Amino acid sequence: MRLKDLFNFKRKTRPIKPSQEMISEQELSELWTQCPSCKTTIYTAELKNNLMICSKCEHHFRLSAYDRIEHLVDADTWEEINCSIKPSNPLKFVDLKKYEDSIEAAKKRSGSNEAIVTGVGKIDGFETAFGIMEFPFLGGSMGSVVGERIARLCELAIERKLPVIIISSSGGARMHEGLFSLLQMAKTSAILSKLRENKLLFLSVLADPTYGGVSASFAMLGDIIIAEPKAKIGFAGPRVIEETIRQKLPKDFQTSEYLLEHGQIDLVISRKKLKETVTQLIKLHSKTLYGNPTNELNGFADIISQPLVSSSV
Ligand SMILES: [Zn+2]
Repeated sequence: MRLKDLFNFKRKTRPIKPSQEMISEQELSELWTQCPSCKTTIYTAELKNNLMICSKCEHHFRLSAYDRIEHLVDADTWEEINCSIKPSNPLKFVDLKKYEDSIEAAKKRSGSNEAIVTGVGKIDGFETAFGIMEFPFLGGSMGSVVGERIARLCELAIERKLPVIIISSSGGARMHEGLFSLLQMAKTSAILSKLRENKLLFLSVLADPTYGGVSASFAMLGDIIIAEPKAKIGFAGPRVIEETIRQKLPKDFQTSEYLLEHGQIDLVISRKKLKETVTQLIKLHSKTLYGNPTNELNGFADIISQPLVSSSV
């Protein structure tokens, strides 16, 4: 190489300019999720493949209504109902913003148009009526629409003689609708008594968190009440109770394990075993109801005799 060539040297590489194809900082942070329980950083895609359960400590992350449907309901059998029932604002309620604006923001955040998704689908071949609450929609709060959708779901179940499964995840009654939301407690309880009169099975599944008017009505009226591990379940929050009774509450107070130990619920089961368990319960109930031999009892006994959750959860 001649000396003057050194000064004519042209760079063969160019600095990379940010382009639209490059991953944004927000997308990069969404690739990884930290487990709030064991603090492990998990690849989000891996977490989704594992039904949003931490593979290290079994912590159950919250799951959206449509993800639950995908997990529980047989492929191509889901038919959503009552989605045209939409909220109104009978009290003309305004807090920091109008109730209507809060609803619009909740729709965008959750991808659902209310705090419960209802429909009919098959679970391992059994036609079943489902109600699945959507916590990101205004804290899964129960207003008039949630009550009406549950009532219509149960009416359909009575008409078609279907078992009903409702998965709850809610902060309680919706304050924006005042007394109208409190009335839904009586309304949902009343329709469940009709379900019982028709000898139809109601399985209530409690996910984190289930509080207030929801736990004080339909969620605790299941023929069998199942909860996910470490789900927080109660009526008033622990801080309110501590301030009222002026006593320190036990460490695991209002967890599903505590409620199981004190006889308020029937099962604590991992999300991975939920489909298998509810299918067994539906099979068992249908055979008992129609007088066939209950061979399925053995299968169900196998499920409930297994350790429910690891001690580290
Ligand atoms: Zn974890």
